[in-house]
Amino acid sequence: MKKLVLFMIVLNLPAIVFANGLMVSKELLNRPLVLSSVAKKSNGLVNYSKAYIVKFGQRDDRLSLTNSNGEVNYEFEILARTDAGVEINFEEGLKSISFQSSIFKTELPLTHSQLKRHVLPSKVFKKVKIDTQNNKQIIATIALNVPGYDFIRIELVPDTSQFFKAKMHSYEDKVGVYSTFPLQNAKQFAARQSLPATYEYDQKFPEELISVLKDAVKYWNKALGGKFIKLVKTNSKKRAQKIGTHYIDYYANRDEDGGARGVFNLHPHNGKILSSYIYVPSGFKVWGTKYFKEKFPTVSDKKIKRAVLDYLTHTLAHEIGHSLGLRHNFAASHESNLTVHNFDKVFDRYLKKAKVSKRIKPSSSIMDYISIDYFTLMGAKMRKHQKALSYDKKAIRWIYFDRTPKTFGSYCTHFDEPPTLENGGTDFCQAWDEPHLKK
Ligand SMILES: [Zn+2]
Repeated sequence: MKKLVLFMIVLNLPAIVFANGLMVSKELLNRPLVLSSVAKKSNGLVNYSKAYIVKFGQRDDRLSLTNSNGEVNYEFEILARTDAGVEINFEEGLKSISFQSSIFKTELPLTHSQLKRHVLPSKVFKKVKIDTQNNKQIIATIALNVPGYDFIRIELVPDTSQFFKAKMHSYEDKVGVYSTFPLQNAKQFAARQSLPATYEYDQKFPEELISVLKDAVKYWNKALGGKFIKLVKTNSKKRAQKIGTHYIDYYANRDEDGGARGVFNLHPHNGKILSSYIYVPSGFKVWGTKYFKEKFPTVSDKKIKRAVLDYLTHTLAHEIGHSLGLRHNFAASHESNLTVHNFDKVFDRYLKKAKVSKRIKPSSSIMDYISIDYFTLMGAKMRKHQKALSYDKKAIRWIYFDRTPKTFGSYCTHFDEPPTLENGGTDFCQAWDEPHLKK
């Protein structure tokens, strides 16, 4: 592409060269901006890159975009200066884009390959398109020649987070909340949203799952103690790629996919969750149906279906929990009151008579990994609008309302693979355990 521009200059066709010009309005110059990007993969999934706080700076005939570490992210040739702002050669200056996955599905050490910073050189750009350029934002889409990826969308907007109250993360050993990546000597802030928040769900969301989704949202509103999360149907899939939205997606025809996700990107300085994306594939429904049918071959399809939907309520609520800032808590099931003596009776009563007592506590949190029976019981409690589990309520109120409880209850998390007895987990801190078998 660089060659082509050169060719045009030789032919003295400024009008065509200017076709790639981008007007950076004076409102966006010399003030902090949030630079965020989102990748759309060929399989439809959306992933966020780490966000940066940047500023434009003019020097001679160049306009640079520098991040808060003093690193120059981009440098553009200035084509013209007008009253409205500065026109730059956007495409030529975009020699590469860096993409470093934001918090992704689970907690990972900073050195993990999934968090590696990828620099995509302009030779893999198929097409650069400026979608929006005005005094409030710049949005560009870069179509990619990279296997598995369709495009990366870049957004630059004024940083309005001075209105956001950052929360120090001071209880790391007691409660699981994501936080800003600790820069050297910098304070570490808890990840949290600006509430109230609106979550949008895809218009292709199956009809039977809409009440499931509503119950999952209701769970967190109960834990928060008010209607802080609003749920609306959206008519554009493109909303998922927009920074500032919270989007819930359901993927039909992904029966083999066993991974649901709750990903988000953060304001790097204060921990504000800028956007989130939740996704559940049809594999959960397929797998859940198979599991319950094999375990309970004489139970009717209708009852099995109820159990599968309850399982999905839990799944969606768990992912929404991540998008609110919560990490996993693998010690939560340690507080279960299910034992080897009552487990089968409780589950039978639930499955056959659709009853779950309020006193049944499968776990103190939905942010644990336990067996599917536990997930399903927790989903059933959500459907029946029972109280939020103890840890979840305390943790979410600590994050959002600064209420510090006497104790958060059992807690442990992980910084890589979920802990099992084989990879360093303990009886207390264990993923995929069946707590009733321990009692
Ligand atoms: Zn999770």
